[in-house]
Amino acid sequence: MLLTITTTHVPATDLGHLLHKHPDRVQEFRQSFGTATVFYPEADDRRCTAALVLDVDPVRMARSRTKSADFSLAQYVNDRPYAASSLLGVALADVFSTARAGICKSRQDLADTPIPLELAIPVLPCRGGSDVAHRLFEPLGWTVDAVPIPLDDDLDWGDSRYVRLTLSGTVRLADALNQLHVLLPVLDESKHYWQGADEVDKLLRSGGSWLLEHPERELITRRYLARSDRLTADALVRLAELGDDVEEALEPEPSGRRVALNVQRHDAVLAVLEELGARSVIDLGCGGGRLLQRLVERPGLDRITGVDVSSTSLRVAGRRLGLERMAERQAERITLFQGALTYTDERFAGYDAAVLMEVVEHVDPERLPAIERVVFGQARPAAVVLTTPNSEYNDRYDGLAGFRHPDHRFEWSRAEFATWCERVCAEHGYTVEIRGIGDVDPDRGAPTQLGVFRRA
Ligand code: SAH
Repeated sequence: MLLTITTTHVPATDLGHLLHKHPDRVQEFRQSFGTATVFYPEADDRRCTAALVLDVDPVRMARSRTKSADFSLAQYVNDRPYAASSLLGVALADVFSTARAGICKSRQDLADTPIPLELAIPVLPCRGGSDVAHRLFEPLGWTVDAVPIPLDDDLDWGDSRYVRLTLSGTVRLADALNQLHVLLPVLDESKHYWQGADEVDKLLRSGGSWLLEHPERELITRRYLARSDRLTADALVRLAELGDDVEEALEPEPSGRRVALNVQRHDAVLAVLEELGARSVIDLGCGGGRLLQRLVERPGLDRITGVDVSSTSLRVAGRRLGLERMAERQAERITLFQGALTYTDERFAGYDAAVLMEVVEHVDPERLPAIERVVFGQARPAAVVLTTPNSEYNDRYDGLAGFRHPDHRFEWSRAEFATWCERVCAEHGYTVEIRGIGDVDPDRGAPTQLGVFRRA
């Protein structure tokens, strides 16, 4: 397995500093599954190439897998020694760990700067064909050359599932290494090593800065986490939470003091709950519990419940509220539980008000009717307080191309929201009053739309 990293940044030999590997030396790094060797086939001022060669030892690898009960021959005889794969991603992360962190004391400016790079992997398993390589790397600014490798040069058997991959672009070296670290196993789609509980953390650490914006982030997340539904859901929710900060960062800065939009949203929802005189509230899709924290501060509320489909979010919420440390009487007011709003659940019923804050747009449009039925038809609280973005406002955000959050499935204009609200009211016997939250633009309206539904 071979990966080469070439730069034409002058002086090109600075690559040695950035990678923390001297161009004059050949260095070996032992891995649990083989040996990684780093050397420089070319190193002059104008062009410098570092090569990482990974020699996989299938016997050592199979033997070190004490957890596996699978002693099949395929563990010993397979393409691992020859084809770049997830193992190359692992070796790369280990051998270039400092470079991947973007640290270079002697050349920090250069480590922070995009430089011309060419990454080449002569044999790379690529499930789904070379098209997938384009979809994964092009949005990151790479020019992709993925040439399918024929099964046999002489016989007309067609292409194998391997490609020769060359990426060229002007990219920060740390970003390039992190992208490869995540995307090699994604292309390979079979992880050859034990997946630990911290797999989602690893993904977010390597991918946090670029994965959020990537149009294929779902595919990447799912394949990286070896198609585990639970881990994928967790990762996507946490990415969406990173997106919250993106949204705040995108907020146009009006003159004078600025209150973050999510704080304005909390204030608005709390004011509505007060108006309604609600004494029991269920926050449906409570996420990390920021609103719950504000609700807990209100002595007028006897019963506060948070629901989310994501166990990670619920853990964050529990920690934020300090449930463990809370006095018993205080803790009795609060309940957190895991639940999906698309399925009937008796525990959603019996509240004065339900809050759906920035939740509906995270749900596929074809599943929205299920939520309408569960919330308005079955739980039937006296009031529903619902917020969602106003898509008309989006062009006020500089640099926003798609939706406000990468996890959003849709965003409604004011007219679309009004139409939806009216229909839900007609079907389930509610009336609605629509308001805006945030600074109002005369043409586009407010950034957030608020619907206050009352049971008729
Ligand atoms: N209400 C919070 C979080 C919004 S993010 C806030 O405004 O800050 C959307 C949340 O909805 C996420 O936490 C996500 O896990 C949750 N969610 C999405 N689909 C859901 C479903 N079908 N059932 C329950 N929760 C869901």
